[in-house]
Amino acid sequence: MHTTPRHDNLIGGQWLAGGSYTPNINPSNLADVLGEYAQASAADLDAAVQAARAAFPVWSMSGIQARADALDAIGTEILARRDELGALLAREEGKTRVEGVGEVSRAGNIFKFFAGECLRLAGEVVPSVRPGIGVEITREPVGVVGIITPWNFPMAIPAWKIAPALAYGNCVVFKPADLVPGCAWELAEIISRSGIPAGVFNLVMGRGSVIGDPLVNHPGVDAISFTGSQGVGARIAQQCALSLKKVQLEMGGKNPQVILDDANLAQAVELSVQSAFYSTGQRCTASSRLIVTEGIYPQFVAAITARMATLKVGDALEAGTDIGPVSSLAQLEQDMRYVELGQAQGGQLVAGGDRLQRATEGFYMAPALLTDTTADMRINREEVFGPVASIIRVKGYDEALFEANNTPFGLSAGIATTSLKHATHFKRHSQAGMVMVNLPTAGVDYHVPFGGRKGSSYGPREQGRYAQEFFTTVKTAYIGI
Ligand code: NAD
Repeated sequence: MHTTPRHDNLIGGQWLAGGSYTPNINPSNLADVLGEYAQASAADLDAAVQAARAAFPVWSMSGIQARADALDAIGTEILARRDELGALLAREEGKTRVEGVGEVSRAGNIFKFFAGECLRLAGEVVPSVRPGIGVEITREPVGVVGIITPWNFPMAIPAWKIAPALAYGNCVVFKPADLVPGCAWELAEIISRSGIPAGVFNLVMGRGSVIGDPLVNHPGVDAISFTGSQGVGARIAQQCALSLKKVQLEMGGKNPQVILDDANLAQAVELSVQSAFYSTGQRCTASSRLIVTEGIYPQFVAAITARMATLKVGDALEAGTDIGPVSSLAQLEQDMRYVELGQAQGGQLVAGGDRLQRATEGFYMAPALLTDTTADMRINREEVFGPVASIIRVKGYDEALFEANNTPFGLSAGIATTSLKHATHFKRHSQAGMVMVNLPTAGVDYHVPFGGRKGSSYGPREQGRYAQEFFTTVKTAYIGI
């Protein structure tokens, strides 16, 4: 006899029970179980792909008005329920309620944006070099798209993949992260009532090794859009190369935040705290390397540690909480291991780094700051993915730029400066997909491209109208007159 509500997979328009269920546990309060969520089997996954394939001929030829209406309805409902869904997000993932509501709003706006994009998909008609012949260049849907998402943005990342996939006429098999099925299930439930035909959108919940792998390797899947860690992403790229599937990967970051001598100190501290520690540092765009020039170094270290002492770490749903808990025990252990490793390799822990006790048992951690770190230390080369930042001291701008780019990743990069010359040079020479001047490294609008370079991203950009590159395929057609 189970006491918590059960949530099933959505396959071919039917809510189907899983062979087993896993509890969804609140990281702010381990005694709080949000519900039980079905674990799909490889056979369920196969049924979802078959349903998507069967739905594709009709959906891919459907009118753009039907698609626009459905996406608009989904966006409208998400926005109307932003407080409720934002609280659910905070309860299952651990970011604060304010951050949760913000993320849900972003997801709603993404669906609204792509409702409009349904109507804006244009092609080209160009003359042929052969007289009397016309050439038409159009974009068509890719087919069945497998969507695999991480746990840290359980609403926004699914939205920015699912919305363009549907807008451009593709069918979807969506596999969310095992840790956060609650938001994924609510999103699927909203989509299931939007007027989209059965089978066009399918939800399969479960572990990457059990259903992620078969989704990537399924011959009925034409493309994979993945966001997650670099290790899993690289493996997926290899598998897609073997089966010649289209693939798009958004992966980790080790984002630099440069602070120059001429920066506004208060602004530099605020944006560094925001991008290093908010959302518990669990953002691919978090700045975990603070690269500080020597003229401002002592003032900056003093001011940021003083500011960190004012941060309130607590229950994600409690008013006034700045930093919620880490999302899982495994992640908490990883964060604490990196704090130890940073010290073992010569870093000085000047703030935080310890596990905290609160009224309820949860995965609370005091944001950690290490000074005296160098570029070769593991803490500056590997993604920690928690509330942990380290400071690298440099002589001047040239060394700061060199260190900012001295990483295998290239997602986002920031600079705090009042020098137009340095800001302009940094924008041009930063080897990152996104550059921020006097702003946190995290926080990209929902209508512009999102993505990185080097080990952070692979394949076409996500978001905005650039999303059509991945979710459509180009056809060149000739008409002889
Ligand atoms: P993860 O790689 O462990 O898992 C991501 C997804 O892949 C999950 O749904 C997981 O179940 C699935 N998966 C795992 N093994 C698989 C396999 N063998 N085949 C297919 N799917 C498999 O990542 P995570 O821990 O959920 O998320 C954190 C990572 O995501 C961090 O590295 C972070 O930087 C990255 N991230 C990147 C972006 C971006 O846009 N660049 C955004 C958010 C998070």
